[in-house]
Amino acid sequence: MTDSKSDELQMFAESWQRAINAKDWDSAVLTGISAYLYFSSKGEKRLKEGSVGLITSAFELQHRREGSASEKRCSFCNKDDSQVRLGAGASAYICEECVQMFSGIFSKE
Ligand SMILES: [Zn+2]
Repeated sequence: MTDSKSDELQMFAESWQRAINAKDWDSAVLTGISAYLYFSSKGEKRLKEGSVGLITSAFELQHRREGSASEKRCSFCNKDDSQVRLGAGASAYICEECVQMFSGIFSKE
């Protein structure tokens, strides 16, 4: 029983690793999400939590390889992460100041 479960996890882990090796970050994240949804539907709490690691690792590896920590800058005002707190998107960052500014703009509409 436990063997077939770890086979399934192995299957996800292998395609995740392939995507990481190819620097195909979107596929790596999607593989993690697929694993999460799959184990979630099966009620596999432990494997589901393990899948979260695939998602977060994919993000971490992506940022590590696409620039050092000091390279993180808000895509809107260009302040770096020593000046402001940054939130990360798929290929961009946004700082807390810009979030506030944009939420102010959108709330007026
Ligand atoms: Zn900003």
